[in-house]
Amino acid sequence: MKFINKIKMKIKNKHKPRFIAMGYAAAIIFAFVLSTTTNNNVIASVSSDSIEYINMLDKENEEIVLMNINNNYVDNEFGILDNLKVLMKSDNVKEKSNKFESQKTEELVRKTIEIGKGDNFIGILTQKVGLGYNEATTVINSLKKKYNPKNIRVGQVIEFEVLEKAENNELISLEKIIITQGHSKRIILKKVSETEYKTSVEEDELLEEVVSSSGQIRGSLSGAMNANGIPNSVVANFINIFSYSVDFRKDVRSGDRYELIYENKVNKDGKVVKTGDILYAALKLHNDILELYRFENPKGGADYYNEKGIALKRTLHRKPLAFQNARISSPFGRRRHPVFKDTRIHWGVDYAAPRGTAIFAAGDGVVQVAKYNGGYGNYIKIRHNSEYSTAYGHMNSFAKGMKSGVRVKQGQIIGYVGNTGRSTGPHLHYEVVRNGKRVNPTAIKAATGENLNRNALANFKKVVSALKAEHKTFFANKDKKEQKSAKR
Ligand SMILES: [Zn+2]
Repeated sequence: MKFINKIKMKIKNKHKPRFIAMGYAAAIIFAFVLSTTTNNNVIASVSSDSIEYINMLDKENEEIVLMNINNNYVDNEFGILDNLKVLMKSDNVKEKSNKFESQKTEELVRKTIEIGKGDNFIGILTQKVGLGYNEATTVINSLKKKYNPKNIRVGQVIEFEVLEKAENNELISLEKIIITQGHSKRIILKKVSETEYKTSVEEDELLEEVVSSSGQIRGSLSGAMNANGIPNSVVANFINIFSYSVDFRKDVRSGDRYELIYENKVNKDGKVVKTGDILYAALKLHNDILELYRFENPKGGADYYNEKGIALKRTLHRKPLAFQNARISSPFGRRRHPVFKDTRIHWGVDYAAPRGTAIFAAGDGVVQVAKYNGGYGNYIKIRHNSEYSTAYGHMNSFAKGMKSGVRVKQGQIIGYVGNTGRSTGPHLHYEVVRNGKRVNPTAIKAATGENLNRNALANFKKVVSALKAEHKTFFANKDKKEQKSAKR
């Protein structure tokens, strides 16, 4: 058997690109080696008309010359290699030449390394990939421009492309690192010269897929939604959208319906990578129908509006507490006073909740009062707009920074449930003041935020009708069900 360790050849056509010539050479050698090894018929797809001869030296430095005679390759030692059939198909040369490269002295090897406990990037590069410490530092410095190497976590798989010596798998160089992030993003480090690496970020373009779903609620809303294959993140988003106007514990009953249209982000392979926005969300409750449409407000940010363009999100919280299971320990209105033991009007609603439970601002607004206020104990009053204010009593303490004049956002923590002032146990006393009169907080429906102005409203209506046109069947079926339930 011949081992070939050197090769020379003469190319007739000097204008041929170098890599093609190399391809020919590799193909010929491959075919030759195979023919002398196995004696089987060998078909190599090369265009041979451009190669005049191939001159090889074997291990004993004996010269083997393959001459091209009428596209047959003739060996000066063996005569015509009649089992070597060379086809005249130049189309395949490039493709085949890649395959034949493995017969070369170097090979490009792709390795995957799983991050183990206690691994760090420099250790992986030096111990598992086999780079020297300085080289590994250069690699890390390049990587750092787009990725924090400290972010690797146990179980993560990183791909490495390395050039190795074919005979003993000794590392020649690191060519590429691929770090996959999520389902669609990759950090790629490439060797660009002897001393330099370059790191870039590749991100697949995601496609949007719109899903519509509706169902009857038996048991819990999330159970009903999960049964229809709606992902948890969308369920959470749905609940969040309505949390401003619906008390899920009290208002949602078995037999009520939910409806929604939402977007998925899908990658090239059709896999759902991310759940996108909810475009339409509806709750058909036994006593109320709430329908919300998403709209990108030109002032920035997106919000949910009912069909009239009223931002329901900005309706005051009915229960501005982190503990949504808090029960009403004393309702609004006339009642026997627990301390004075006579009949008085209770100007707010009391929610019993553990001491320390976070209390939220019921809507966007400005703090008017934040101080100890007699029977109210620690007390905050927020003015939301010209029509509405809210007040909170018996707080254990205020949140940091709460004082008169401070602007707060809906849902922001303003303080914590306590038992200060005239109180018989930890609870939140919550008041809603409308045009100077205290009203029942559990009955408010009005929006307090800014509704859409005339231009925005016109755009909003376009968005709504486009959505309805796009999902004709969904909205038509909904209406039918509506009529059915109305007849019952
Ligand atoms: Zn009270």
